[in-house]
Amino acid sequence: MTAANEFTTEVQRPAIVVKRDVPIAYEADVVVVGAGPGGFAAALQAARMGASVVLVERFDMPGGVHTSGLQGSADIGVGGIHTELMQRFAADGYIYTATEHTHPGWAGNPLSHYERNKEPGSAFTRMTFNPEGAGCVMANMLQEAGVTALYGTSFVDAIVTRGTGNDSISAIVVENASGLQGIAGKIFIEGSGTSELVARAGAPFVRGGGGQPEGTGWDGVERPIPGGLLWTMSGIDFQKLAAHQESAKDPLLHKLMAEAAASGDLPEAVYRPRMAGKNVYGDAYIGHPTLDMSPIAADGTYVLWQNVPYEWALHMDDDAADHAKAKRALRAFINVEAKFLRKYVPGFENATVSGIGRFVGVRDGRHPIGEYVVNLDDVKAGRTFRDAVTKPMTKTFFWGGHRKYTFEVPFRCFLPKRIDNMILTGASLSFEYKTLFMVMRNFPWCTQTGEIAGFAAARCIERKIKPKEFEFNTPYF
Ligand SMILES: Cc1cc2nc3c(=O)[nH]c(=O)nc-3n(C[C@H](O)[C@H](O)[C@H](O)COP(=O)(O)OP(=O)(O)OC[C@H]3O[C@@H](n4cnc5c(N)ncnc54)[C@H](O)[C@@H]3O)c2cc1C
Repeated sequence: MTAANEFTTEVQRPAIVVKRDVPIAYEADVVVVGAGPGGFAAALQAARMGASVVLVERFDMPGGVHTSGLQGSADIGVGGIHTELMQRFAADGYIYTATEHTHPGWAGNPLSHYERNKEPGSAFTRMTFNPEGAGCVMANMLQEAGVTALYGTSFVDAIVTRGTGNDSISAIVVENASGLQGIAGKIFIEGSGTSELVARAGAPFVRGGGGQPEGTGWDGVERPIPGGLLWTMSGIDFQKLAAHQESAKDPLLHKLMAEAAASGDLPEAVYRPRMAGKNVYGDAYIGHPTLDMSPIAADGTYVLWQNVPYEWALHMDDDAADHAKAKRALRAFINVEAKFLRKYVPGFENATVSGIGRFVGVRDGRHPIGEYVVNLDDVKAGRTFRDAVTKPMTKTFFWGGHRKYTFEVPFRCFLPKRIDNMILTGASLSFEYKTLFMVMRNFPWCTQTGEIAGFAAARCIERKIKPKEFEFNTPYF
């Protein structure tokens, strides 16, 4: 946090202080940091309701983990902007649907990320959107709504004005092709996915990443939740792969891996055995070069998971050295794995790396402390709230016995403590880790939270009130 018109860089030892004037290049009613599902929907909704909106995004398109990060998993629309997105992706030909007919033998295959536990040969439907195409559609939607979307622009700092009670943000500092610029606004929306705006503005949060303070996963075993880099390969002949798994009696490709390791094609440091159930996602989740993939975008194209090894316990969201280490290591792992697959695994002879996510996604970043922190007890108790943002929702929680609960989410968990004019979205909501992870940070919900935040911001602008004064008394969804 810095004083107005100053930009201070802090490094660990020795410190240097850089001071310079930063011109205010834009002013808007609503300023959104990050264009993931949360920031995207917030900007869109606020602009559609008449607010002037500037959105900053460091990459070249909206969509966050789901486009720039190549996640791409699509769902049936849950209403509002999310449903509209699914319809527009479909209309532009960017939805790809895999079923037991397009991918016979996929359900129950141990290499399948999502369908591995299904009955072999059973029916399944796996919808994805083409991340690059989806990013184009989302960019168009922002353009149509009149959002000033600044791509290639990184949020750097928040200029905070001290109040007698709470503080408020007067402007943010960004860095882009023009150098450092200031963007002044009335309401600021946190859409960075890792609560960067919260941290720079001095609002309170619990640090994410690494070992979890709560200790245990759904099965009672303590472990961190690593970040991950998704990548795609095209030209895979899955039927040939499946035939090999069966004829060689090598469902997990262990024989091929042993062969490659013996030939020096799988360096020991890279080889990571499966964790046999000892991790949040069960048996497959981590482990390169073991395959963990899902169909995406087109026939013969699959998205593959490459995760940071658990034991590294990196803090990629707030430690640049950890961040760089993860990026270096995962690119190297992908290269080794791609070479292994092409050389040793039937069905991959003509496969090629067709994409690597623009960033290593953080699954467990900072958790802001809001005016209310949604916790597992709220969920288990089915607690109701006067400021519920949706009608009661039912979701399966890993923690709490891996069963379904029906519950509500209050608007107060969109409002960070200490800062008056900020609204949270997406993975940056004020949820404790056990309620956020796996459940309340999925694509549909993050889009919904953005839409709710954008709605609230626009109403506050209309009524000239602060978000904390806004009475959220009718569920939005
Ligand atoms: C590896 C991984 C796999 C996942 N798999 C699934 C899944 O299978 N299904 C599912 O539903 N969910 C999945 N998730 C969770 C889901 O993707 C996230 O919870 C969701 O994308 C969060 O949305 P968001 O809008 O809060 O942030 P994000 O999607 O993280 O988007 C944040 C955006 O802000 C931008 N940004 C960040 N910092 C700055 C800055 N300083 N300046 C400018 N721009 C900035 C980023 O570039 C990005 O575009 C996964 C997450 C990860 C990391």
